[in-house]
Amino acid sequence: MIPERDKWKQFGFWMIGILAFAAFIGFVIVEPGPTDRMRAESAPHVSRTVKPVARGGHGKQVVAQPDAVAGDNTNVVTEPGAGSDNTGQAPTRTIQNARSAPKTGTMEAHELFSLMENNPEAIAMITFNNGSDRVIVKRADNGIRYYVTLPEGGGKEAAISLARQKNIAWTAQTDSTSAIRGFLFSFGPIILIGAIFLFIWNRNRKQAGAGGGNPGMNNFAKSKAQDHDEEGAAVRRVTFDDVAGCDEAIVELKRIARGLKRRKLYSFFGAKLPKGVILVGPPGTGKTLLARAVAGETDGTFSSTSGSDFVEMFVGVGASRVRDTFAKGREKVKKTGKPHIIFIDEIDAVGGKRGGGTGESSNSEREQTLNAILVEMDGMKNNEGLILIAATNRVDMLDDALMRPGRFDAQVSVELPNKEGRAAIFGIHTRNKPLAEGINNVLLADRSYGYSGAEIEGACNRAALLAAERCGAELPEDATEAQIDAFLKEAGGVITLADFDEGVDFVRFGSANTSKQKTMASKEKKNTAIHEAAHACASDIMPGADPVVKITIMSRSKALGYVQNMPSDDRYSLTVVQIVARMVTAMAGRAGQEQILGQIDTGASNDFEQASQMAHSVVTRWGMSRLGHFAVGRGGAAMRGMGSGPVSNYGPKLADRIDDEWMRINEECFKIAMLIVEKDRERIEALAEILMEKETVLGDEWVEFTRQYPSKVDKEALAFDPAAKSEEG
Ligand code: ADP
Repeated sequence: MIPERDKWKQFGFWMIGILAFAAFIGFVIVEPGPTDRMRAESAPHVSRTVKPVARGGHGKQVVAQPDAVAGDNTNVVTEPGAGSDNTGQAPTRTIQNARSAPKTGTMEAHELFSLMENNPEAIAMITFNNGSDRVIVKRADNGIRYYVTLPEGGGKEAAISLARQKNIAWTAQTDSTSAIRGFLFSFGPIILIGAIFLFIWNRNRKQAGAGGGNPGMNNFAKSKAQDHDEEGAAVRRVTFDDVAGCDEAIVELKRIARGLKRRKLYSFFGAKLPKGVILVGPPGTGKTLLARAVAGETDGTFSSTSGSDFVEMFVGVGASRVRDTFAKGREKVKKTGKPHIIFIDEIDAVGGKRGGGTGESSNSEREQTLNAILVEMDGMKNNEGLILIAATNRVDMLDDALMRPGRFDAQVSVELPNKEGRAAIFGIHTRNKPLAEGINNVLLADRSYGYSGAEIEGACNRAALLAAERCGAELPEDATEAQIDAFLKEAGGVITLADFDEGVDFVRFGSANTSKQKTMASKEKKNTAIHEAAHACASDIMPGADPVVKITIMSRSKALGYVQNMPSDDRYSLTVVQIVARMVTAMAGRAGQEQILGQIDTGASNDFEQASQMAHSVVTRWGMSRLGHFAVGRGGAAMRGMGSGPVSNYGPKLADRIDDEWMRINEECFKIAMLIVEKDRERIEALAEILMEKETVLGDEWVEFTRQYPSKVDKEALAFDPAAKSEEG
């Protein structure tokens, strides 16, 4: 059933539509040209046409007229007869149809003038028309109305003047059709445009109301936030049991969740819960998950959006989206009486420091959006149940106004998990998964050094997929559900350590490219094998290097081969010895190719990038070089020609010295790498042979290899302190 209000709306739209159509008709059709007028007069409302009787040489065609006055369909043909000449006699014959009605006829202009001149008493009334040259003449003697068209250019004025002169009653009226026509002419186009606009607006409104499809124009400024906890939606609630590896963040957010649940208690003590919490950390560490856990723990609702959703081409759109997001949140709190969590990911996209950048319109859009966030946060009442949780990896980029007390009061760091954290995250993501005997979370954590929570989830999922594929290979392709059930009961299957190994590699390096591996030329394979073997051998002997757990030349989408080093403990900082070890190890791949194969290729670019970045930081950030103890440049990417346009805070003299020192450290590390290859050439070649044959060498095999092929390098020759002055001074 259509509600009453909508019925009126529909009626309004119909009326506008009809008016618009009428305007269109008026514009195109109603204003007739001379031909149209003729056609109107000869309109076929005539029952029959009688040929005029010729009198005195005046043969006249008498044309039937619809009775404009009476407005009915009386079909009358009137024929002016004898006496319609200069005698001033009335037209002699009027033929009517059976339904007698007011009689009408036509008269020529000269006949009218003649009648007025010679027999004015015969005229009861002349009705002039303001909008046209047509007049209606009513005769006194027979009551018939005659339509007369006066000549243009003074005919009407002459007739009026003669009527005055002869004391003939006359009047003037406005033709209703010309009034409508005039109205339509003036307002038709406006009505038409208005109607088109209203039509589009109405259609967009309906589309938006129907959900799905393109949102209408009027939805443009609406929030893009997604509601995850709509009433009745089958969304599993996330709780803090689903998060691990970020204990400090969990403690802080649990405290906030408790406060949100006990708002009354907190208000009693005058304790204000933070209006905003900012989670700082690298991608995939569980920031979104934590925000959802707050909603889950408090039984509240949750909407998430990203900072970039607010940034649009049109200034003001982002700001209205912000207002809409907050308005919806408040509505939810009001409706459910439970907390509502607004989560904004990558808030730096919109909350970056103001006054930077180049694009004027994008800047003012960003600034307006940021202002809207600030205004909304200021408008939040303490303990009202609405809380904004934002995430970023670049807290130093955020505008100071955002970080002012009373806005984002709590700043919580969410770092990459340590070994214990990784084990706990593996525990969460292997829940309800069938694992092979001997697999435990600590073992898996050992194999995933530096992995984020999201990467661990990806690795577990990949492992499960592989196990399902492997075990399911025994089933027929078109197995029914019953067959699968029976198979699982009987044979079952487990996820093995090899599946996890593959999963861990897959999330970092992509899928194994077995077909490329098969077709790869042996020369190319040897190249890769020497490169990786040199990396591994350098890692084995460099003091401070992390132990090798895997060497492979299996090509994956992101690498031709790689050496995996896993520190036995979590690292929170690096010593100069460890830094040098990493630089030398990275450069050893190229050193091996250069010395053993006598050819070089582009495969070492990533290694050099890593080593060069470190060498630059040794000089400019870590104060570990001969230049002294200082840090210059802004941020970590403060390399000239590298990173995204850092602003240097040092002069050209120091810049030159930095460049020289940077290059010296690079070269020293490369010299050590060359020395290792020179001394351990045999060892490297032996490992390369094994790799060519087996593709992958794992931890235990590697230990065995190092026992069989001990290094010949003098360890003292590997020592390098970038800050040590040369003997010459
Ligand atoms: P972020 O918001 O920091 O980029 P997400 O919260 O979106 O990361 O993480 C994506 C997925 O990775 C989560 O849904 C979860 O399955 C998994 N994950 C990430 N961090 C953790 C963690 N600390 N504990 C458990 N699972 C995690």
